[in-house]
Amino acid sequence: MSENNEIKELKEKLFLQRKNGCTRINDEELAACDKFCEGYKSFLDSSKTEREAVTSSVKLLESNGFVPFKKGMSLNAGDRVYTVNRGKAVIASIIGTAPIQEGTRICAAHIDSPRLDLKQNPVYEDNDIALFKTHYYGGIKKYQWTAIPLSLHGVIIKADGESITVCIGEDENDPVFCVTDLLPHLANEQMKRPLAQGIKGEELNIIIGSRPFKNTDESGAVKLNILNILFEKYGITEADFISAELEAVPAFKAKDIGFDRSMIGSYGHDDRVCAYPSLMAAIDCKAPVHTTITVLTDKEEIGSDGNTGLLSSYLKFFIYDIAEALGSDGRTVLSASECLSADVNAALDPTFPEVNERNNCAYINRGVVVTKFTGSRGKSGSSDASAEFTGRVRRLLDKENIIWQTGELGKVDEGGGGTVAAYIANLNVDTIDLGVPVLSMHAPYEIVSKLDTYMAYRAFLAFMND
Ligand code: MN
Ligand code: MN
Repeated sequence: MSENNEIKELKEKLFLQRKNGCTRINDEELAACDKFCEGYKSFLDSSKTEREAVTSSVKLLESNGFVPFKKGMSLNAGDRVYTVNRGKAVIASIIGTAPIQEGTRICAAHIDSPRLDLKQNPVYEDNDIALFKTHYYGGIKKYQWTAIPLSLHGVIIKADGESITVCIGEDENDPVFCVTDLLPHLANEQMKRPLAQGIKGEELNIIIGSRPFKNTDESGAVKLNILNILFEKYGITEADFISAELEAVPAFKAKDIGFDRSMIGSYGHDDRVCAYPSLMAAIDCKAPVHTTITVLTDKEEIGSDGNTGLLSSYLKFFIYDIAEALGSDGRTVLSASECLSADVNAALDPTFPEVNERNNCAYINRGVVVTKFTGSRGKSGSSDASAEFTGRVRRLLDKENIIWQTGELGKVDEGGGGTVAAYIANLNVDTIDLGVPVLSMHAPYEIVSKLDTYMAYRAFLAFMND
């Protein structure tokens, strides 16, 4: 053997392999990635808010044998149940063949995404234009939300308690809405603002109309005309906005990106790109040994507080109920459980590589990314998975030939972020983050790779079956 070959072989044996996943799978599996992502794209388009994601998920669950869970019902191995929390979060579970005290396999993703929420008294008229005031939800770069088409989704609870579901701007024939930005010709002063203030929170106003009621020049006639249209369409008055949750999101559809169609551009990959694969893994998981729990939660983007976020007890209560139905108790089951916190990580962006440390960041197409810890300023706020549990997940992924990589969010002290991992770990569950790398995360249009998305599905399925 030549010296060169020996060096090459030794390198292969001793160095961490970090290659484009496309070089490591065959054409058949690459085709499986593409096929899986067709389903994902339609899920994206029909699930732009947490409520819509719950509706789409329940539809998929019910058509695949899952039935609503009721406390006190008897449960047996193979039973498939789900429960919805206030229309904004859903838990699906398959009862395993092993005794429940041996623990569950939890996959936890979130279905809320950054957006513009309407204020409670949103409608106003200014200079003959009617607008909505908004309060942004989650971490956004505000300037990105101007001059793009927006659709409006949500619910309005009327004075008499009736609930109206709203979805305008998704159908080809629907109107859309828009936040304006200054023309460059008159933006001399605005362009001197730091980027974070290029557009300020109170400048995120959405245009909703411009014609006066019955073409009168009465003051407030444009606003009156809009309210009249809304009254005729929904039977609502201005006061009904107070008891509404209306969310403006990008009106774009999910599309393939690139000449090679290797990626998907869409609003809301964070975190539907983990929610959909973990939901499909639950649906495709046939007879698990350990009971599986798939939770698609709300409120992650604003810190997980509130009764539909994972800092609330709803997941814990569900597991307690399952444990009880199977003759055990919640603390025993939780203490023996394992969790993949299914959330995205940042992919290295070739245009902005300086925020990452190249040996420890995620890359598009290198597979699902395992993130041992998140947090910021010295891992603060992270649950930091143990070497033992990281090793266990590593062995599982390798055994199943799943393409995966390790990656942390950015350079040390560059910034940071968190996921729901810490809140589940706090229930005494072994937890690690595993998800899909994203380009332009939290932008109105985010990008993921089809290979990574499919590898996430395979990872969740392997974990549930293990
Ligand atoms: Mn996320
Ligand atoms: Mn996020």
